[in-house]
Amino acid sequence: MICARCDHPIGRDEPYMTVDHHAASGPGTTLYVHKRRCKQAPQQTYPSRRFGV
Ligand SMILES: [Zn+2]
Repeated sequence: MICARCDHPIGRDEPYMTVDHHAASGPGTTLYVHKRRCKQAPQQTYPSRRFGV
């Protein structure tokens, strides 16, 4: 799985957290982020679909 914060893969042995992401429309999705403090990926300036699917 991919960390929603830093966009890097979360290893099988790495601790992670799940974050419920509620979309304005449609069902929410569950995101995964590293439990450790990881660096946030640069934000894009246009509406992103990076959390989609
Ligand atoms: Zn991360």
